[in-house]
Amino acid sequence: MTLPAGVPSRMFVGGTWQDGSGGSFDVLDPSTGDVICAVPRAGADDVAAAVSAAADALPEWAATAPRERAEVLRRTFELMIERKEDLAYLMSLEMGKSLTDARGEVVYAAEFFRWFSEEAVRIGGELRMAPSGANRILTFRKPVGVCLLLTPWNFPAAMATRKIAPALAAGCTFVLKPAEDTPLTALMLAQLLTEAGAPAGTVNVLTTDKPGDLVEVALADDRVRKLSFTGSTGVGRTLLQQAAGRIVNASMELGGNDPFLVLDDADLDAAVDGAMLAKMRNGGQACTAANRFLVAESVADEFAAKLAERMRSLRMGPGTAEDTQIGPMINRRAVEGIADKVNRSIEAGARAVLGGESVEGAGFFYPPTVLTGVPRDSAVAVEEVFGPVAPIIAVKDEEDALRIANDSEMGLTGYVYTGDLARGLRVCERLEVGMVGLNRGLVSDPAAPFGGVKQSGLGREGGYEGIDEYLETTYVATSW
Ligand code: NAD
Repeated sequence: MTLPAGVPSRMFVGGTWQDGSGGSFDVLDPSTGDVICAVPRAGADDVAAAVSAAADALPEWAATAPRERAEVLRRTFELMIERKEDLAYLMSLEMGKSLTDARGEVVYAAEFFRWFSEEAVRIGGELRMAPSGANRILTFRKPVGVCLLLTPWNFPAAMATRKIAPALAAGCTFVLKPAEDTPLTALMLAQLLTEAGAPAGTVNVLTTDKPGDLVEVALADDRVRKLSFTGSTGVGRTLLQQAAGRIVNASMELGGNDPFLVLDDADLDAAVDGAMLAKMRNGGQACTAANRFLVAESVADEFAAKLAERMRSLRMGPGTAEDTQIGPMINRRAVEGIADKVNRSIEAGARAVLGGESVEGAGFFYPPTVLTGVPRDSAVAVEEVFGPVAPIIAVKDEEDALRIANDSEMGLTGYVYTGDLARGLRVCERLEVGMVGLNRGLVSDPAAPFGGVKQSGLGREGGYEGIDEYLETTYVATSW
């Protein structure tokens, strides 16, 4: 597959499309392993140029009327919706997700621009009375400054817009570095933002397959005041250590090991519908993907049979083919990682009732897999699988399910299925996670605060909270 006409494949710095001083690297189609195109590899001088462009554009953008900033965001939302098919195709091509998933992502991603266009005009301050009565406490909000935004490959549009939209709404400018596997969607977004009226320098996108080098240079630059990262917990930990050097304000959206609880009174068909969404959206390559199914032992066999039947019926193929329901994984390393976790778990006693064996041939495919009798300490139960693998663990009761669910250093999303709403809410309260789907297999919503606890992250994206990550508070003590 070749690059569709009109899609940029050069970096965007200070309003112009540029090559990189570090050469170039290839972007692959994961359904074949073939090269789609080459994109620039940014060098240290490109990083300095992008940060300079963002720093130069900052004062004027920060002083732009909120309504004007809001209108740029609103137009970007409209352009994304107008170009939905092109964007969806591009994401399917470079990332491999099905067109159905890609279309859903375009709408989700665009909605961050609409939501934050509405929030841009509601950045407020406060007036309080000091408890002593001696003075007033006046607060106002200011943009944090130049932002470095780092995004993963699994949602090439949404993970970027979830950062870009609140940053621009707050009056910040940014340098975005997309993942090396999926840089093209981010470049397309830069083009749409420019068409929508984002001034030169507010939006900068650098591409590289040597992210560590680029980020080290950027974080050492005094003008960069904010780091917002979405990706694995391991890389997040390294970045926090680097950010500590200059006390850079940091937001982290990291990995998960999300439990999916099916209690004994759950509607099993509804639970299977929810499991298909929570597990199989994006081929299981989502941080919100259900990683462990903790199912009451009285219904575990029936749940496993129903889930395996649904997963067996999925059509696997290239993301860009209209009838594909599950596309390839992102790259060969990902397939090998999934196979390794499944194989180790089978050796430890798990049984594959569906799939469980790698697929021969071109492209990076792994088949839908259901494992039963999964030991609680096996690889698929304790590590993030990030693929179409559903490990089922039978549990004695609610307490047993909660104990296993919370026995993890991760705490991103949880799912609970029960026929008793009050019981469900009690379980939600006790789950150590940032988000819960209660009788729902999908939690993501631009209007809701997205984020994790424990080693799954710091801060929230989306919702009223999302813009706070890009604002500082100044307080004035005064009296009159
Ligand atoms: P990753 O950590 O390998 O890469 C994420 C980003 O970090 C990419 O842009 C990559 O180029 C960059 N990067 C990699 N090594 C780096 C380094 N040494 N220094 C600086 N930057 C570096 O993660 P991934 O494989 O792209 O994404 C999968 C992970 O992301 C999973 O763990 C998933 O759970 C997590 N994720 C979390 C969320 C969330 O909102 N919490 C959303 C999506 C994905």
